[in-house]
This record gives sequence, structure tokens and C-alpha cells, in this order.
Amino acid sequence: MAARGERGVMEKLVSLCKRRGFIFQSSEIYGGINGFWDYGPYGVALKRAVEALWWREMVEFRDNVEGLDSTIICHPRVWEASGHLDKFGDMMTDCRSCKARHRVDQMEDPSKCPNCGSDDLTPPREFNLMMKTFVGPVFDEDHAAYLRAETCQPIFVDFHQVRITGRQKLPFGIAQIGKAFRNEINPRNFTFRSREFSQMEMEFFCKDEDSMRWFEYWRDERLRYYREFLGFGEDVLRIHDHGPGELAHYAKAALDIEFKFPFGWGELEGVHHRGTWDLSRHQEFSGESMEYFDQEANSRYIPTCVETSVGVDRTVLALLCNAYAEDTAETKKEGKCEDERVVMRLPGLVAPVQVAVLPLSKKLAESAEKLYRAIRGRGFRSEFDITGSIGKRYRRQDEIGTPVCVTFDFDSLEDGAVTLRDRDSMGQERVALSAVGDVLSKRLGGTL
Ligand code: ATP
Repeated sequence: MAARGERGVMEKLVSLCKRRGFIFQSSEIYGGINGFWDYGPYGVALKRAVEALWWREMVEFRDNVEGLDSTIICHPRVWEASGHLDKFGDMMTDCRSCKARHRVDQMEDPSKCPNCGSDDLTPPREFNLMMKTFVGPVFDEDHAAYLRAETCQPIFVDFHQVRITGRQKLPFGIAQIGKAFRNEINPRNFTFRSREFSQMEMEFFCKDEDSMRWFEYWRDERLRYYREFLGFGEDVLRIHDHGPGELAHYAKAALDIEFKFPFGWGELEGVHHRGTWDLSRHQEFSGESMEYFDQEANSRYIPTCVETSVGVDRTVLALLCNAYAEDTAETKKEGKCEDERVVMRLPGLVAPVQVAVLPLSKKLAESAEKLYRAIRGRGFRSEFDITGSIGKRYRRQDEIGTPVCVTFDFDSLEDGAVTLRDRDSMGQERVALSAVGDVLSKRLGGTL
């Protein structure tokens, strides 16, 4: 039975993430730092798989999208042009009674503290989310710089450089994965709202008259990606279309793809029509032309842009929430189920460990290890686990979400076959050693 919606799912998930080394507080021995998270061995494997999948689907498998890896610190004028230094902020208020700090747009009743109910609040004031630093030895305003608040601005700044070296003509896209920083007033809901996080963004440049068609195309592509590769069903995905009141003045359309987290619906990805806003602003602030020469039409113009923007950490969190389940394990005595298990039903393609090879006895270690090396050599993220009873090892693999366990037993030496145990059904199948690679490939959806 899936555990979604039950009270306490988030607490259970946070505790599992720490216990199994997925995600835990940064600098924990110093008491942690609010809004910053570290990814342990299984967390980083999952995160890297998510990034690799997105990169494969958005860049590698497309001839009309180029990749970029820009710096985190850019020329400060970039953020003046983008409007981030001026406007990128939220209204915040402090409660004078309990000292809690709140984002006004997130308060149900902006006149009452959601923490203690007091109405003794400071007047709302603006707060800029950009993180500031200094470049060089002098710490004054002339040397101030900012950690990027989104990965897309350098894409606009490098538009011509990438277009020319990538030999692209409209329509085409530029994609980037990387860190972004926001001095969020109220980091919360585990990694959902962090101060340091990673984004996967793609800016698609096209003719204005084609832009709504591309907007719809990317909306559909991104929904297909969530369904097909991440296994998100209709029950946990929905679209929130931005109404006229929510749209930026330059945008023709915008929507959020929302995911149903245990704490409620939350934005996972934004698909935005950005018009010519960003390139125009960089043209204005840099004095460099951002126009594109359209040979067919024999005219120059600033391309229109459609953006897809998603957080890596939010995707990982959505995957973990969607995967968490509790059910009863197969260990039966006199027809009675013995123990409950926690199982992470992560999709095979992104699971941190795709295959675990488990020799039934230490005496079989050598032969089993050969098989493990062969499986790893085919590109599957694999683990060799020899410690503890086989039941305990299955339980551990269930908790980290390993879709297939390969058990090497004494018969394997005789019949050249092994047992494949399926994480979700707990069903077991005997497979010839020579067929293991192909069977795994089919069950896991391949490798990245
Ligand atoms: P929100 O309204 O939740 O603050 P936003 O609309 O400001 O988000 P965008 O600027 O559109 O978000 O960022 C694109 C994506 O980056 C979001 O859909 C989300 O997945 C991710 N993201 C944004 N802010 C954070 C954050 N503080 N922590 C983790 N991920 C984030």
C-alpha cells in the first residue's frame, strides 16, 4: 500500500534519507545550516542519474539543442539587465512575539503569524533574494558580485557564442544544468525550498509567430518525460496555467507543472513564454546586438524564447515521495507474514543502485563477484553485498530502491543460472547467466 497522504510520510522519508545516506543536513556537526543539504552516496547517485536522464532527453537526443556550462558568478550587469537586482524579491514580515519570519505571499492571513497566531507583525518589507559576494581583495560595492539566482541568464548572455559555434539556425535551444542560489526567507519542506540548489533549464529560441506552437510542444514533451521515465501518474501531476494576472508583462503564456507532495501540490517545473524580454534587455545593457539574421526572410530580429525550467532537487524529492511505500515482506512462517518492509519504488533507470549481486554464502564470493563485474561493465549502477542474512540484504536493497537483486547460490555453480528477485512483486525468476544482461536491460529500461 502506498504511503502517500498519510500523516508523517515526510518525517519517515526524511529519516530514511538520513539513515540510508540519501540526503542530510549540511554541516550537521555544527548544528546544520538552514536551507542547505548534502547528498550522500545513494543521494548523489540518484541526483546524477536524474541529471544524466534530463541531459540525454533534452540535449543528447536532440539535434536542435546545444549544451552550456557557464560560471556561477557572472558580470554584475547581467543581474541588472535581468531585473534580479531591482525586483527579484519577496515581501517579508517578522513576528514580534515569536520572532518567526514569513513570506507574505505564503501566509493564509497576512495579518496573523502562522506560527503563534499573534497579530504583532512588522510592516511587510521587500527582501532581495540574490546572494552577494565580493570578487578580488577589496570588499566594497565596486567589487560586489552575485551568485546566479537561475541558470538561464548566462544562456541569454552567451546566445551568439553558442549559436555560432553550434552552427544552429532558428529554431534551436540551449540547455544548462547547474547550481543556483537564492536567499530564501523561509527554506522549508526538506529540500523543496533550499538556498542552494541545482536547476536544469532549456531556452528555446524561435520566430515569434511559431512561439505558441513551441510552447505547447515543450509542455507536452515535458509531461511525457515525467510519465514515461519518472513514472509520475495522473494522480500526482497537474498543470497550473498562469492566468492574465500572474503573467509577466512580456509573456504570452506560462504554466507550472505541479507535483503532489505529501505536504501539498507544489511547483516542479515552469514552462514559460519569455517573449524577447531577456535578449532585448541584454542588448540594451551591454550595447551588443542580440539580433538574429534570418537568411530565408532576409531580416534581422530578436528571437522569441520558450523556457523549460526544473529543479534537480525538487525532481529528486518528487521521486523519493512517489517511491516511498510500506508493505509486508515475503518472509512467511506458518502462513503468517512476519515483518513490514519499507520499499522505495524508484524507476529502474534512475535508481541509485540498479542491480545488487548477492552471493548466498561467502564461499560463493569469487564466482559471484565475476558476475558483478560483468554487470557493472555493462553500465548498470551495481552493488556487491555479502554481509548479513539474505533476508536482511533484501530489506536493505528495498529501502534504497534497488529494482533487481541477483542471487548467486550453490546451484549457480552447477546450472549456470542465478535468481533475479523483483523489488516490487518480490517474485523470483531463474535466469541463465548468459541472459542476465539482456533481462536486466529490459527490466530497468537500460542504462544512462
Ligand atoms: P517558487 O514559486 O517555488 O519560489 P519560482 O517560480 O521562483 O519558484 P523558478 O524561478 O521558475 O521558480 O525556478 C524554476 C524551478 O527551479 C522551480 O520550478 C523549482 O523546481 C526550482 N526552484 C526554484 N527555487 C527553488 C528553491 N528555493 N529550492 C529548490 N528548487 C527551487
